[in-house]
Amino acid sequence: MNRKPLISIVCCLLLLAACHPKKATGIRRPKLVVGIVIDQMRWDYLYRYANRYGEAGFKRLLKHGFSCDNTMIPYLPAFTAVGHSCIFSGSVPAFSGIAGNDWIEQSTGQRMYCTDDSTVLGVGAETPESKEGKMSPRNMLVSTVTDELMMSDNFKSKVVGVSLKDRAAILPAGHSATAAYWLEDSSGHFITSNYYMTKLPVWVDSFNHREPVRAYMKNQWKTLYPKSTYGESDTDDQAYEGKFKGDSTTAFPHNLDSSYKISKSSFRTTPFGNTLTLDFAKAAIDGYQLGRGEATDFLTINCASTDYVGHQFGINSIEEEDTYLRLDQDLAAFFTYLDDHIGKDNYTVFLTADHGAANAVWFSQNHDIPADYFLSAPLTDSLNTILGRAFQTPNLVDTISNYQVTFSMKTIREKKLEFNAIKKMALEWLRQQPGITYAIDMANVGESPVASRCAAWS
Ligand SMILES: [Zn+2]
Repeated sequence: MNRKPLISIVCCLLLLAACHPKKATGIRRPKLVVGIVIDQMRWDYLYRYANRYGEAGFKRLLKHGFSCDNTMIPYLPAFTAVGHSCIFSGSVPAFSGIAGNDWIEQSTGQRMYCTDDSTVLGVGAETPESKEGKMSPRNMLVSTVTDELMMSDNFKSKVVGVSLKDRAAILPAGHSATAAYWLEDSSGHFITSNYYMTKLPVWVDSFNHREPVRAYMKNQWKTLYPKSTYGESDTDDQAYEGKFKGDSTTAFPHNLDSSYKISKSSFRTTPFGNTLTLDFAKAAIDGYQLGRGEATDFLTINCASTDYVGHQFGINSIEEEDTYLRLDQDLAAFFTYLDDHIGKDNYTVFLTADHGAANAVWFSQNHDIPADYFLSAPLTDSLNTILGRAFQTPNLVDTISNYQVTFSMKTIREKKLEFNAIKKMALEWLRQQPGITYAIDMANVGESPVASRCAAWS
């Protein structure tokens, strides 16, 4: 999924906690827990853009909550599905089964998307059979904190997951969720699957019928403040930035209307994707009356547009800075909504990230900072050529994805080839390629000199 390499970063978890007395048991529990994951948010953004953050967004969490600094991402690869499953389950890919956003099923050799489920149908989708709706958490092999909450009170809680991304709505909400909702690009509507329900609630239909995505995409994306004041970013219109489809430049202002006509998914790469997500989360609180019952409810939210913007424009872009300044305002409005509707002392919010991001390679190279990258497809072809020559067998490598080499075990078995010899040659060759610092045999990962904690990479 990523051309730009992502790195695992030292991450941060912010907590704004509140409890209220529960009369029946005397145990103090919040009425509502809200878990917010800011997609691709690096820890340093809390401070990098802080001069123009208000007091009621990120700073409210920092000043009035708890900051759990210097924590560690314990998994590879550092992608969205893995990050979300780890945050909400406490488990890692070897146990959760969520080995990437996509992976190769060893039993079939087929590619699997993390939340694909051929046994379910979309609900609210343009067609129930469309791929976008056929999703569930069934590939996740462990329980989540949201599942454990449900089990703790005999399923009296309500648990709802919300994101533009299917995987970032479904995995945090767990197996026993009341609902998970994600965005279908073609319709611009929030949808779900019949894993959760057979019909969208009326409040979701009403939200969709207002066509908020189309309304956002009729406008331009202009900077919140004069462009010259964006002091934490590179100058606009860099060669390493990606263009919106139909745009002739990568510079502000972005004409969203023309881009949306060419590609409906372009909405995701705007800060308004976060605004929409948090507006939908507010509607979900109201629609499900979250925080109003006897049991503690749980709302999981992923703000995904930070990730799409980071990928398209790079993390040193004005677009990135503008997205975080707008997100800070959206978060402030969301916290005020919680104060007004749930009550200041009645809810607990935590905010964290599923992974970080590295500088665009070309940004680093522009500043003479060492950086490089590789593209998986040509690397796979070259490795197959080298191995094919040595072992007189073509296509010994199925694919290189998630920074992992998947060998064709069927071919290796049929030809009675020596697997360890193939791996040894592949490792020696990979370590010599530009863009690759490090390659290890997963079978011996416990004995390999893995880079130190702070230098961990994916
Ligand atoms: Zn992500």
